Amino acid sequence: MVRLPVKYLVAAGLVVLLAGCATPADSAEPTEPPPGVTQSAATTSTPSVAPSPSADSVTTSTPAAAPDCSVVNCVAITYDDGPSPLTNQLLDAYIQRGAVATFFVHGPKVANDPATVLRAFDAGMEIGNHSSNHPNLTLQSADVVAQEISDTQQEVAKVTGQAPRLLRPPYGETSATVNQIAGQQGLSVINWTDGPADWENRDAATVVNLTLARVRPGAIILMHDTHQWTVDAAPAIIDGLRQQGYELVTVSQLIGNPQPGQFYTDGQAPA
Ligand SMILES: [Zn+2]
Repeated sequence: MVRLPVKYLVAAGLVVLLAGCATPADSAEPTEPPPGVTQSAATTSTPSVAPSPSADSVTTSTPAAAPDCSVVNCVAITYDDGPSPLTNQLLDAYIQRGAVATFFVHGPKVANDPATVLRAFDAGMEIGNHSSNHPNLTLQSADVVAQEISDTQQEVAKVTGQAPRLLRPPYGETSATVNQIAGQQGLSVINWTDGPADWENRDAATVVNLTLARVRPGAIILMHDTHQWTVDAAPAIIDGLRQQGYELVTVSQLIGNPQPGQFYTDGQAPA
């Protein structure tokens, strides 16, 4: 029997309220096809309370202090559109290796699976905001943009006790107005340097090879934890990046001190 903190139970109760309206359009940046079969499982999954590692295992697997990315080669791997039913498998790969990544999540999915988000947070992953419903924010009114951001801020904070500092705009679509609204809520706006285009390259070996070929110091790499091939690629990506001399860090660690309202596509690299 898994004992759940009160905050889990509160969040789980919200699933009932949100289930009817929680259908974040899935995913794909920036040219991904319309929501497809690969994402449908996420919206129909039941709340997950199963995969909770013991407090001891979390503690012992917490990564060491962040490196100085102005001195060593760092890379920040990012995963959008979760949490999904695949996210725990992905976390296994990172936690077993003492590595970290950044997860840009949707508030309704967080409410649907708070345990996975808390597991990620407790293991040192950074939790960022990917809006509630995955709209192109540049096409929305200021009020809608603010709501899309604030709802997910609140859902994450309910689970982790800490509101995100980073916004990944859906499809990477942002504007001066969107950046300003994000800044008003304390968020930096984060796109990406490069990535394996995992929405169209649908096998793990290709995702691994493209990631290792396209990485460079200071890079922010875009992926999605809604694709099985992306999750399957993670162990070889982590090991391969380390063999190339990279330190895996979160986006905030990579940038150093991201400023609210500022837009970033990469982070620090050694001079
Ligand atoms: Zn997305």
